Amino acid sequence: MCKWFLLFCLTYPLATTAQRDKELAITHVTIIDCTGAAPEPNSSVIIGNGHINVVGPSDRVTIPAGVRVIDGSGKFLIPGLWDMHGHLTDASEDAFPLLIMNGVTGVRDMGGDLAQIDRWRSEIDKGLRVGPHIIRAGPFVDGPKEGVSNRLTVRTPAEARQAIHNLKAKGVDFIKVHNALPPEAFFALMDEARKEHIPVAVHLPNGVSSAEASDAGAASLEHIETISESALWRKGATAKTVEQAVDENLGRAGQELFQRFAKNGTWYVPTLVAYERGFVLWSNDPESLKPRLDVHEKQIELVRMMHKAGVPIMAGSDFSDWALVPGVDLHNELALLVEAGFSPMAALQAATLNPAKFLGKTDTFGTIQVGRVADLILLSANPLDDISHTRKINAVVLGGNFYPLPAIRAQFLTSW
Ligand SMILES: [Zn+2]
Repeated sequence: MCKWFLLFCLTYPLATTAQRDKELAITHVTIIDCTGAAPEPNSSVIIGNGHINVVGPSDRVTIPAGVRVIDGSGKFLIPGLWDMHGHLTDASEDAFPLLIMNGVTGVRDMGGDLAQIDRWRSEIDKGLRVGPHIIRAGPFVDGPKEGVSNRLTVRTPAEARQAIHNLKAKGVDFIKVHNALPPEAFFALMDEARKEHIPVAVHLPNGVSSAEASDAGAASLEHIETISESALWRKGATAKTVEQAVDENLGRAGQELFQRFAKNGTWYVPTLVAYERGFVLWSNDPESLKPRLDVHEKQIELVRMMHKAGVPIMAGSDFSDWALVPGVDLHNELALLVEAGFSPMAALQAATLNPAKFLGKTDTFGTIQVGRVADLILLSANPLDDISHTRKINAVVLGGNFYPLPAIRAQFLTSW
């Protein structure tokens, strides 16, 4: 993959800078703007200075002279996708071309090497590297743990409060807590984070229930399986195994929990694809596969219940845990969301409008509207007919720069 990356770097930054200030128009395309509005056939978009400047019916949009025109006839335009649960440090810089080739123009980095991520982010901002927009937590806030890196180890409530101030001083966008954080330290951290107005994304600490984390003000809860882990230790728990906990959540216990998330405004990032890859697809033992597959199917059902209950949900893949592939596996997550009863539009919004809402950046990202950053995907088939069509990428526009995919892929493949 290194070779891909090098080629990408060598080939595109020059083209990128050259085109940056030039205007680009995509004409006669069907726009799926992801606001929830119906698709608009035969539309045109004019892009300049990295932003969407004009959107409208092709017969009413005048294309100024000198603008590069891409004929979008027969094609579909959607906003760039956000992967709301990724780990760039684990994935390494090899992730960048994969993300862009797959239309992932934004990543919420859920724990990694802050200095390295910031170096990448600044190279991307300066046009020296082609990569997505990055929102990052920096190091995980975790309890003592062996054999892991990029952790800020916290043992006591006082250390938890200090961690908030240390990370805030470093300018992180949010805090990510992980499962070994002791419960009393977790609650102190949540309290301090609320006072300091910094959002916290929660991989549920052992001994804390999902309901308690939601009530404590978690901005987002991560991974569907933590709901069932939590059912083993929540107050009055009766389930003794994960399987029993999943079944319990499929009944009233789950319904009440999801109503609570909706009421508290707690976002959920189920990362169904990570469970599928880690526990189902990698399993080659038929004995253990059967119960895992059963849990996987029931977890998809839990996401359906959450969605119905009005819990705001975002798409995340958890690359590169479990050898998840940056970019590629976000499309698998969208397909799993549709399996969980999302309309294709709702699945698209889980990676476009919803991340923008979550980040408080609906004026900047997430839809195809005037004034938004020009992060777009040109598809050769309609994703509202079949969500797998998000994989039929013809070109990606990143910050106004146009990347035709067939050409890029052909170059990568011939040099591989
Ligand atoms: Zn993760």
